[in-house]
Amino acid sequence: PNTLLKVANLKQYFPIKGGFLGRTINHVKAVDDISFELNEGETVSIVGESGCGKSTTGRAILRLDEPTEGMVEFEGEDILSLNRGKMRKKRDDMQIIFQDPYASINPRQTVRQVLSEALTIQNIAPAREHDGIIRELMKTVGLGEHQIDRFPHEFSGGQRQRVGIARALAVNPKLIICDEAVSALDVSIQAQVINLLKKLQRERKLTYLFISHDLGVVRHISDRVIVMYLGKIVEMGDKKSVFDNPQHPYTKALLSAIPSTDPNTKKDRIILKGDVPSPIDPPSGCRFHTRCPFATDKCRTENPELRTTEDMKEGHKGACHYMEEITAGTMEPAYS
Ligand code: SF4
Ligand code: MG
Repeated sequence: PNTLLKVANLKQYFPIKGGFLGRTINHVKAVDDISFELNEGETVSIVGESGCGKSTTGRAILRLDEPTEGMVEFEGEDILSLNRGKMRKKRDDMQIIFQDPYASINPRQTVRQVLSEALTIQNIAPAREHDGIIRELMKTVGLGEHQIDRFPHEFSGGQRQRVGIARALAVNPKLIICDEAVSALDVSIQAQVINLLKKLQRERKLTYLFISHDLGVVRHISDRVIVMYLGKIVEMGDKKSVFDNPQHPYTKALLSAIPSTDPNTKKDRIILKGDVPSPIDPPSGCRFHTRCPFATDKCRTENPELRTTEDMKEGHKGACHYMEEITAGTMEPAYS
């Protein structure tokens, strides 16, 4: 498969100002040294609780916030070194859809104006061609041409997200980052929008980075899954491996909270204690140790690297010192 996007050692530290001089006194380590790749035409999801760094990752890739450190390559090109003009042009290829596509735009704009603006900003087509392109886009996302001069408040949540998708498609992107794109929608509407995304992917060979806290949705849409906790990747692999054979205690805990589709899949129920710690001073060693039922002294001092054990398929990786022992059942949880 062709690599479309390559992210290496990405860090996003946001400064915290304080003291009487307003100096930087600390950092929020929102994303702390993560690496992954997206292949052309696939859907990779990033999952984790709020504050794990998944949205920050999406924004850093598009340079909506400049990353602190690391490398982002799109089609083999280092995009972090592009100047503003070239980066703006690059956004033809890399779009993002948010939970509420209208949160960031003028409520007095009609769909026609929203889409026309997207076409104009990216210089996609001369104004006289906009009407035809916009009508075509409306059809593509399942909206009626008669809705072209309507305002955001005249649409349902699902329809608004269809407009958001049309706006992204207007510039013919290769990659779309979907940041909680269906999270605000009712379950039945979610399914419709996901099916639309899948159809568009087939027709246009789109690649998706799908950011979501909802494991049910992630299971439905993904080819591969990345699990994040407090700014780090704790587990990644193809969907089947991660969902059917999770190796990291955090992934097991997340999965044990959702109903299983396969009654034969054995589930180790892990209930997490406490809340996610602050990303300002994350726990030493394994960041999960304050909540992990298996934590030892080693976990409090040594950061576990991503690795593949004998129980894991190729490409499936977990960052835990004790995956073998936990899987073999030779390590007992301190609580469960
Ligand atoms: Fe738990 Fe230790 Fe594994 Fe971290 S390294 S997940 S604290 S057992
Ligand atoms: Mg988020």
